Amino acid sequence: MKKISLNLQILAGCALGIAGGLWLAADGPTPHTQQTLYGARLAGNLFLDLLRMVLVPLIFTSIATGVASLSAHQRMHRVWTTTLLFFFATMALAIVIGFGAAHLFRPGEGLQLAMFAEATQNYQARQMPLPDYIAQFLRGLFQNPFKALAQGDILAVVVVALFLGIALVAGGERYRNLRTLLDELQELCLRIVGWIMRLAPLGLAALLMQLVATQQAALLASLAHFIAVVIGSTLFHGVVVLPLILWLLTGMTPVHFLKASRTALLTAFATSSSAATLPVSLRCAEQHLHVKKEIASFVVPLGATVNMDGTALYEAAAALFVARLAGIELDLASQAIVFCVAMLGAVGAPGIPSVGMLSMVLVLESVGLPTEAIAILLPIDRILDTVRTAVNVEGDLVGSVVVQRLAERG
Ligand code: ASP
Repeated sequence: MKKISLNLQILAGCALGIAGGLWLAADGPTPHTQQTLYGARLAGNLFLDLLRMVLVPLIFTSIATGVASLSAHQRMHRVWTTTLLFFFATMALAIVIGFGAAHLFRPGEGLQLAMFAEATQNYQARQMPLPDYIAQFLRGLFQNPFKALAQGDILAVVVVALFLGIALVAGGERYRNLRTLLDELQELCLRIVGWIMRLAPLGLAALLMQLVATQQAALLASLAHFIAVVIGSTLFHGVVVLPLILWLLTGMTPVHFLKASRTALLTAFATSSSAATLPVSLRCAEQHLHVKKEIASFVVPLGATVNMDGTALYEAAAALFVARLAGIELDLASQAIVFCVAMLGAVGAPGIPSVGMLSMVLVLESVGLPTEAIAILLPIDRILDTVRTAVNVEGDLVGSVVVQRLAERG
């Protein structure tokens, strides 16, 4: 009998997980459902733990070796600039789409903040003024590397790895052994990722089952319009805009791209974490999208930390939504502030579940909207985080293909 491919197993796992979740939700809170949910939570968390186990060494070695080999090809400058330009341009586009959708479909009209009064009372928003946030962001960049590695502080790890990569280049031949060592360590991490991925069908099924079974139907229904607008516009960005950019710049067809990156997108969807998905994204970029190792190793891990199209889009749309709930129409100047803060928030947010919520507080505060509105956004965030994270990861993968093509042209 022909072995079923891993891709197919993962698809089947996701479908089974969603079906199982719906079934559990319909069954109500019986002891049997509780036990099944407990098992699903355990299995899902173990799968995430496994991915996180390789995450920090993988990011560190990928970026350091990525930078080191880039400059060996004298293309460093071009790859750097193209990558950053691509990240910022696509995030800006995402924010514009978020604004556009919120203006066009006007979610929140007719909904009253008062109906969420209880939830609002129960939530203590984390308050932090914008200058404090920027200061904290900047200070978090440079840290003791051992502390950053041990605590899994991804942004700081990225910065240390960038420095190390540049120092390796500056030192030249002298550090050849260390470069080989880092190369081999990265290869080892990817080999372990290959093993972990065999468990992906099960892990993703468990995560999705738990997600679907624990959503509150009533709340979803009352916010259905907003949910539909956010998911619809995020999908528009992911299914139309990004593939179009990819096709125009590289000639790769959307079907080919989506097929090649399917595993990473599904993993992002089920884990809601670009960081946890990184090992899978890196594999997809190198093995299925055929991005050269030195480019993928640089663009994809960096993207997982700074490039978040879905998050940026969400924050823009949600700001207008909350404004409407509060009976305020944001003027152009306020929208410009939201634009900048949403971009900063998306860049600063580490790729973990629901972290967009923290920078959301900042976005609301920056234009004087009630931060308590987070209480409305939080309960539906798990649902929105799925699609948002998948599009975040898609942006990184599209970026790696585009950068490779543009850097080669030069
Ligand atoms: N969960 C998202 C990610 O990991 C971040 C967010 O909450 O927006 O990409």
